[in-house]
Amino acid sequence: MVTRKSAQSILAEVSATLASSLAAEDILATVARQIGEAMGVFSCDIWEHEPGARHVTFVATWCAADENPYGDSLGDTAELDGWNSMLAVVEGRQTVELHADDPDLQPTDRASFDKWGFQTTIDAPLVYGDRVIGVLGLVETRELRRFTAAERELFGQLAVQAATAINNARAFRRLEERNRQLQALREIGDALTSTLVFEEALDVMARVAAEALGVSRCIINACSEGGDELTPLVVFERLPEGGRGLPAARASGGLLLSRGSQVEQASDPELDEAAREELSERGERSSLNVPLIFKGLPLGLMRLVETREERHFSDDEIELARAIGEQAALAFQNARLYRSLQEQADTDGLTGLCNHRRFRERLFEEFVRARRYRLPLTLLMIDIDDFKTFNDDYGHLIGDEVLRIVARLLQAGLRQSIDLAARYGGEEFAVMLPNTPPDDSGPAADFEVPSAAAGMARAMAHRGGASAVAGRIRHTVAVTAAQKACGVPRIVTVSIGVALLTPEMGDASALVRAADAALYEAKHSGKNTVVVAG
Ligand code: GH3
Ligand code: MG
Ligand code: MG
Repeated sequence: MVTRKSAQSILAEVSATLASSLAAEDILATVARQIGEAMGVFSCDIWEHEPGARHVTFVATWCAADENPYGDSLGDTAELDGWNSMLAVVEGRQTVELHADDPDLQPTDRASFDKWGFQTTIDAPLVYGDRVIGVLGLVETRELRRFTAAERELFGQLAVQAATAINNARAFRRLEERNRQLQALREIGDALTSTLVFEEALDVMARVAAEALGVSRCIINACSEGGDELTPLVVFERLPEGGRGLPAARASGGLLLSRGSQVEQASDPELDEAAREELSERGERSSLNVPLIFKGLPLGLMRLVETREERHFSDDEIELARAIGEQAALAFQNARLYRSLQEQADTDGLTGLCNHRRFRERLFEEFVRARRYRLPLTLLMIDIDDFKTFNDDYGHLIGDEVLRIVARLLQAGLRQSIDLAARYGGEEFAVMLPNTPPDDSGPAADFEVPSAAAGMARAMAHRGGASAVAGRIRHTVAVTAAQKACGVPRIVTVSIGVALLTPEMGDASALVRAADAALYEAKHSGKNTVVVAG
């Protein structure tokens, strides 16, 4: 029997729970316990109802027995259609009390009374604002119980409290979700503004996206110019123990890019055969694919992948992924701009070779590398002979053409992405030959080359060493440059100074000085010749 006083203290207790507890699930479970105990029933249950939905979801239960027989049903949904007593609560906003001895019990209710051994149930709508957001239910299985008017009144007031609890729990969940999203976007924004390194920004994005959406993998792909080929740039894996997925990209990404943000589920009957095969090959159950597009131009594709089980992506989550995708697209665009500016800044406009500044940077890097690994490094300084006279005789335009031709001839004799040729000044070129001794007699005696490195060096070595490279350049220029390309009856020649990095050289500039000295010597010994320093 519930007295007025205890009713007040119960209400106060429930209010305190609402004010103090934080986790949404805890609020509901605590409210169910407090109401169940206060009403002295076998069990108290809370169902949630979304406005307009034709079902309710079982979200909390408390039971007086040690073991709660309804615990396993948490999360289940029940259809409202055909369940008249529940419809009366949700749509009619009535409090409905049912008894096992009622001969008019509806078949749906009779079935659950029989199944669970109910003697008495009472359900009240949880009304918040003007909407029914759930149902509060009490169950008695031990005896047939008829609630008194006072008990029903208390129950009604507890339902108001429970409605507040559900509403708070929902608001809290929304707030948490929103917070998570804002946090993710902020972290990505920070990454974009705090670093110029594209790859680092992508690493952060992949991790944050995977964590914010709680998926096992995030892959960010770049797409080719036509948008039909994808290359994975970063892969972030969140697999719990051991398992590693295949980070392979789709062979053809055109379709994915053209379809906009889109979810693929392994079990989707609409999925085409090829896509299904690819999904299962990589162990993907669900994926959310977000094209990275800047001003209508496809730049890449971000894929959020779940490998553990199929999962649903909420509208909020898709929205968040899209927002992250926009940031990623911006990073792609910035990186493109940066790369093209960088290339411009590093390149000589006339010849397309790298310029003096960039060459000095690279030479410094190679100097450090050569010192650390004790590898030979050779530098060629190349200067066109009597070029002032050539210009005087044929004009600057033809002179420019000769510079371009010499640049091409230089490049042709070098190892791609190992050697480096630069326009060092007006009609002066420099060539850096890493891992190249001056001649074939092997590395200079002062350098100990580890045998593996020596083997590799031999495999990629220039035939005859650096002096042979210089000799071939001198010869090719002399027989080719001016006559062939410009049709002028003048033989253009070059003088070349060759220097090898020696242990005495304190820095890269010393190597440049040595090559310059050798070039000076070449000029003074009649030009069109190669001089090796030392
Ligand atoms: P040397 O054999 O001693 O090197 O004589 P040189 O005439 O080549 O050397 P000098 O340093 O006296 O003159 C270099 C000339 O290179 C002067 C200039 O007309 C020419 N030159 C420098 N830059 C350019 C360029 O960008 N285009 C053209 N057409 N000529 C250039
Ligand atoms: Mg010259
Ligand atoms: Mg010169």
